[in-house]
Amino acid sequence: MTPAQDVDLDIQNTGALPAPDAAPPTVSAGAMIVCQGVTKRYDPNVLALNNISFQIDKGEFVFIVGASGSGKSTLIRLLLKEMEPTQGTIIVGGRDISRLRPSRISQLRRNIGCVFQDFKLLPNRNAAENVAYALNVQGESAQNIRRKVPEVLSLVGLVDKMDSLPNQLSGGEQQRVSIARAFVNHPPLLVCDEPTGNLDPDTSVGIMQLLYSINRTGTTILMATHDREMVDKMRRRVIALEDGKIARDERRGGYSSQ
Ligand code: ADP
Ligand code: MG
Repeated sequence: MTPAQDVDLDIQNTGALPAPDAAPPTVSAGAMIVCQGVTKRYDPNVLALNNISFQIDKGEFVFIVGASGSGKSTLIRLLLKEMEPTQGTIIVGGRDISRLRPSRISQLRRNIGCVFQDFKLLPNRNAAENVAYALNVQGESAQNIRRKVPEVLSLVGLVDKMDSLPNQLSGGEQQRVSIARAFVNHPPLLVCDEPTGNLDPDTSVGIMQLLYSINRTGTTILMATHDREMVDKMRRRVIALEDGKIARDERRGGYSSQ
């Protein structure tokens, strides 16, 4: 597999100055994601994330676990800058994302591959077209698209299904297409929100193996899940959320504390 592109998300400095009232967080050179004191309140009664802090280094594979409603998807949406935290700082690839100019937001998203539980494929386009469409939107040349699409579909094991529509593919195959779409440009960071949530256990294992092989190319992976068995098998870093707080952060953890 080709290595992930250089992990620097930050091509150009915006020149923004730090807020005078906030000490800038200390960020080591190896950090991919830094959350410091991040709180997200949807409305006065819904505190989805409550003052959470953690750092994920480049190249790590990290599970975010927790019961439904514990704040996993909220955290992912904040990283993608789909919404703003109520408080706190989020740094991705060395850049404080609250300070990104609008023109830099699309660049941030291009550098973060996303995989979701429900695949989010275009129903009227086949596997190859789904991947090509994403590249096209990013302004990739027709020549590059012709080269990259079969390459990445072969990487996820779907060369034979390039012409199949999503409804002609199994759930596992559809998730492979969505991973191909997320990884086609070898982003430094891949975030996955319950990627095995709709899949049976055997199919899930195949998807996890694919994510691991992607991680081995150097891509940092953050995966929200409540697939207890999978997390226990993998013995990777686990950050456990409980009611919007970090209940546990273990280097080689399981789903529950033992
Ligand atoms: P998880 O992904 O772990 O299931 P979420 O991040 O989706 O958790 O939700 C955390 C909390 O925030 C829950 O109480 C949920 O109901 C609430 N929540 C999520 N999204 C919204 C929203 N758009 N508006 C209001 N409340 C929300
Ligand atoms: Mg969720």
